[in-house]
Amino acid sequence: MKPAWPRIVAHADMDAFYAAIEQLDDPSLRGRPILVGSPKGRGVVLTASYEARPYGVGSALPMAKARRMCPDAIITPPRFKRYQQVSETIMRVFSDFSPDVEAISLDEAFLDMTGSEQLFGAPEKIGRQIKDAIRDATGGLTISVGLSGTKYVAKVASAYQKPDGLTVVPPSTAKAWLAPLPISRLWGAGPKTQKRIHQIGLQTIGDVAAADPKFLAAKLGSAGLHFYTLAHGEDPRRVARRRTSKSIGSERTLGKDVRTRADIEHQLRRSADAIGRRLRRKHYRALGVRVKLKTSDFQLLTRQRLLDEPTDVAQNLLSVGVDLLHEFRHPGPFRLVGMAAYDLVKADDPVQLGLFQDRPKRRNLEEAIDRLAERFGNDVVRRAEDLCRPQAMQIDTNLDFLDEDLDETGNDDN
Ligand SMILES: [Mg+2]
Repeated sequence: MKPAWPRIVAHADMDAFYAAIEQLDDPSLRGRPILVGSPKGRGVVLTASYEARPYGVGSALPMAKARRMCPDAIITPPRFKRYQQVSETIMRVFSDFSPDVEAISLDEAFLDMTGSEQLFGAPEKIGRQIKDAIRDATGGLTISVGLSGTKYVAKVASAYQKPDGLTVVPPSTAKAWLAPLPISRLWGAGPKTQKRIHQIGLQTIGDVAAADPKFLAAKLGSAGLHFYTLAHGEDPRRVARRRTSKSIGSERTLGKDVRTRADIEHQLRRSADAIGRRLRRKHYRALGVRVKLKTSDFQLLTRQRLLDEPTDVAQNLLSVGVDLLHEFRHPGPFRLVGMAAYDLVKADDPVQLGLFQDRPKRRNLEEAIDRLAERFGNDVVRRAEDLCRPQAMQIDTNLDFLDEDLDETGNDDN
């Protein structure tokens, strides 16, 4: 059988993930409007069930406002550990379909299905089987699947008929299929960029495709050409092999091995600060913290833990990291100390953080330092404590890492 498409990419995204799990676990919530989020203070809606959405409520809306708009809604506090558990089940199902699974968040992944028609049939059949397998494995949750020849079009397709959708866009028709869609469906175009595109007179993806690429570059910079390419249904990016969700890490091979608790904690603090800053800049929060130590004889040791709720506050990351140190049995010395934040969840609204109010002052302080670092560079905000350890600062090798494309999954629906 000759493959009809040069590449087959599937994007699979659970429907109203957190709310659907609450309804799955508690049958009395089924068929009723559910808002997942903290009922206290200035909390925001993390996910609204589909029964609540006709009232106009959705993710990132302040909870108080959502309650006024949908007074019958039942508010349930989030249970992230449970969501993480279901996420593992989903990712296992995906890996039955393809060795090339790129997890984007807890409930969303790309699957490269190129060459799998022999096994699963035509693209529509592939999508149908993924949906059935997810429903069976989770005990009834629904997922929306989009299939096309590129990551970008597959992603737009999965959102096209939510919930429980299946949308197949043959590569030859991708450009025409995209054309009538609003520019909010352009990957990587946030609200500011969308406004900018409207201001230059373009309303639909088809308008962008028909525009002069030189004009787009002049008005929007390099992003203009990026949007032009997407609008033509082109996207050369491959599905990366990444079974777990993204992570942001910071680790250092030290100029001098460390052994004492104080020295290790000092290194963890530097890592936590760097990770917290990058999480905030990318508008992500982490559900998991991992600590990594490498012994002087190159043994790599790791310990990790899931949090009760996601955070982007360095102080929170650090306290978990310090706690994890108790779980290492090795006496050291260590030549590398590092930390990573994983199981990242998107936090679209950095201001309304009711759920994460555990340390609002601490977060404000860290944000103030972010702004200083942006203006004057990281050295200016180096901690006073670091200044007392100049010898440790100079010869370490910094190995910060960041999964790329972290900010390119706009239009998220959970
Ligand atoms: Mg989703």
